[in-house]
Amino acid sequence: MDAKLYSHKLSKSTFKNWIKAGLGVLYTKEGIEPFVYDEIEQFQQKCLSDICNNNGLPAGTTCSSCCTENVVICPTDRICNVERGKCSFHRNTATCYLQCGCPNMICHYFKCEIHNAHRFYSPSLKNTDAAHWCSNPWEVAKCFMPPDGYKDATRSEETDFYGINSVIINLKAFQLKVQDDLSKINNIVEKARQVGKAVLHSSYLEVEDGDLQQYFSTLRSLLSDPKYLAGQTYSRNAVKKLSELEGETLVIAIQDIKKLLDDVFNAAEGELRTEKNENKKEAGKQKLELIRITMKSINDFEKQEKMSISDLEKTLQSALDEVEKQTKETIRKKESTNKEHQNKAKDLDTIPSDVELDKIAQAIGRNWELLGPHLGLATTVIDRIKMDYPTSSTRIYRMLFIWRQDKGQKGTKQKLFTAFGKQPSVNIDWNSLGQSFPDDLKHKPRDTRTDKNPGLNAEEQAYKRRKELTVISQSLSRTMMCL
Ligand SMILES: [Zn+2]
Ligand SMILES: [Zn+2]
Repeated sequence: MDAKLYSHKLSKSTFKNWIKAGLGVLYTKEGIEPFVYDEIEQFQQKCLSDICNNNGLPAGTTCSSCCTENVVICPTDRICNVERGKCSFHRNTATCYLQCGCPNMICHYFKCEIHNAHRFYSPSLKNTDAAHWCSNPWEVAKCFMPPDGYKDATRSEETDFYGINSVIINLKAFQLKVQDDLSKINNIVEKARQVGKAVLHSSYLEVEDGDLQQYFSTLRSLLSDPKYLAGQTYSRNAVKKLSELEGETLVIAIQDIKKLLDDVFNAAEGELRTEKNENKKEAGKQKLELIRITMKSINDFEKQEKMSISDLEKTLQSALDEVEKQTKETIRKKESTNKEHQNKAKDLDTIPSDVELDKIAQAIGRNWELLGPHLGLATTVIDRIKMDYPTSSTRIYRMLFIWRQDKGQKGTKQKLFTAFGKQPSVNIDWNSLGQSFPDDLKHKPRDTRTDKNPGLNAEEQAYKRRKELTVISQSLSRTMMCL
């Protein structure tokens, strides 16, 4: 892979902007959480009292014995998977749909109330546990969040900004307390939800100056919504924090930065698991590394619990320096490996010297003459070599010598090794060739990769090697005489 892909240039100012944007989202979430919780609790209480009134039940009647599966009809689109006749949602008798309804006459009606209160009449029932609808308003809230990813969240604190804003958008009752028309595509809550998403999934943890201004303006508009939020202390506090953050006068709680980095780390890890594109994977790894190193630097401030913007800047700079150092090291290693490969490849493209030719000749044994046709040498040439030279070693050397002469500039080692690879009947010592020419091993035919002396015990192999060595030294001296 191209080394450039690793070296996205990170800048302190865009990284600092990103931290500010992330904290801005965090404070905004804190500034709307009580509002959303209060509203959902009121909705829950209203549902229960309506159900009791409409069915003549004593006030305060609740149920905790029905699970979500008991109130969802099988099959239900996007929830039930009834392939091969078995539903993966309604798994057994305890989790089947209760035809005769909730024993306390609550849950089935509750599901209808939730359904009717949803802007698109499509509550996310897979997210929620109906057994807690009467006791925990947040289990009801989860019906108004996206269909996946919130199953384990039982409190607003465990829910992300996107999920909380989704409740405002999808539970129609919220319209009474928000100025902007929530049925419109680009309403203020939707805009804020998108800011949170952009910050959480930023590829390199960067936000440009212009975008940061835009983000803060959107978040401030949401918190200052005149219909209700503008009058609440918690949202006003959040607006104040946003301004101080923007003006860089805020003293930041270490816990807040840690929470932000934790959330982003988890999101980035999740993305990396499913990412197929190699470039994006590399970017994701760099992002994880940056978060990890920043977390480590932030930990140094843990004792003092808070940090100023200038502390933050120093911390970010040291984290960036560390990441850059690591990136450079990775690139350097990558480049030197590439260079090595290139050099080897280049080397194979050259014409073998006499010494190299001799080394190659020494690696060729039995049936050497079968190489003739693959080297483009006529059988008469091979015959003449056999007649003119007394030993195999000198004959093999001579064959390669003539080949090199014939081929001229085209007589490269690469070509020679390719020819060797085409004739598996010739006994070639690829291991010794490999030591002198590491890249030639890829030409080695498959069936000769195993031990070329099977069936010989260690002593016999040692004897054979000694014998080969004698032959080689003899052939070398003869070769010298020929030259
Ligand atoms: Zn089902
Ligand atoms: Zn029930």
